[in-house]
Amino acid sequence: MLTAAWVNKHNVWGNGIENPNYNYHTIFRMIKDVAPEKKLAVFSTWQDNRTKLIGEGKSETRNILLDYKFDGLELDTVNFPHDKESKYIQKIDDRVALEAAKCVTKYAPDLTWVYLQYTDDAGHHFGDSKKFDEAVLQADKQIGMIYEAILKRQKKHHEEWVIFVTTDHGRDAITGKGHGGQTARERGTWIVTNAKDLNNYFYAGNPGIVDITPSIMQFLALPIPAQSRVEVDGVSLIGKVSLANPYVLLSSSKKLQIGWDAYDSEGVVKISIAQTNNFLLTGTPDALEKLGEAPIKSGKFVADFLPQAGKVYKIVLEGKYNTVNKWIISN
Ligand SMILES: [Zn+2]
Repeated sequence: MLTAAWVNKHNVWGNGIENPNYNYHTIFRMIKDVAPEKKLAVFSTWQDNRTKLIGEGKSETRNILLDYKFDGLELDTVNFPHDKESKYIQKIDDRVALEAAKCVTKYAPDLTWVYLQYTDDAGHHFGDSKKFDEAVLQADKQIGMIYEAILKRQKKHHEEWVIFVTTDHGRDAITGKGHGGQTARERGTWIVTNAKDLNNYFYAGNPGIVDITPSIMQFLALPIPAQSRVEVDGVSLIGKVSLANPYVLLSSSKKLQIGWDAYDSEGVVKISIAQTNNFLLTGTPDALEKLGEAPIKSGKFVADFLPQAGKVYKIVLEGKYNTVNKWIISN
């Protein structure tokens, strides 16, 4: 969600966050890169979100700093003694949501990330149950409090706000307790938003968590910085988009068959290839060689390109409104 990229890029495979690849910038860095005056905020029941995922103050993130932050209560065992059913997490969520609502009301940060945790704990403890439903209802109240603050600001200050609510995973199909497998329910997530200008990709495509960062950049009318633009996997859910869902097939005739879903009927897609992946290793943008271009509505392009075995290639498809990419590994 933060990097608009999938795990093969950002390298955060689980809660351990052992070795995040900060070359894939979070939305916090993207915003600071193009609009340093913007104010950023984090309210979280889990401190690692700020210190490890955003990487506040780390040299690898160019020492990015949040303007407003509230987190770490889960480390306070005096005021929030840890109980077996993790009710203390729900109490922390209450406080985190309250602080977020207060900050929105008073300071109106340009980007606020709020992380609430208890619904996950309730799932693990109780599975599909009344208690799980109650946890969701309480989270709804917490988010409702923040949304009330947004509505008040819109009315009082004539501001425009957008909210995206989502989750990072579903739950196992049988009990609703665990997660981490590949079943449809575990992989299924949802996005709730008040965004007005939702596009056809939102309605007809298959949106995912990676699409939220591009959507917020679009809402803020900020460009995704050039070096991230050719690396992100997300597509904006609002405003105009050109294409999504890129695929690349290596045919037996050693041609690259490239395709996409077109969300615009006019113009062309410029297709290029990177034969290195320095960005992954060092954050240095890779040289892109043009393979050609095709009318966007054709949805496909065949390139005369002979890949070498064992190499990774990045195919970049650039439309008028957005750019998508796909890695291929030749064997
Ligand atoms: Zn979990």
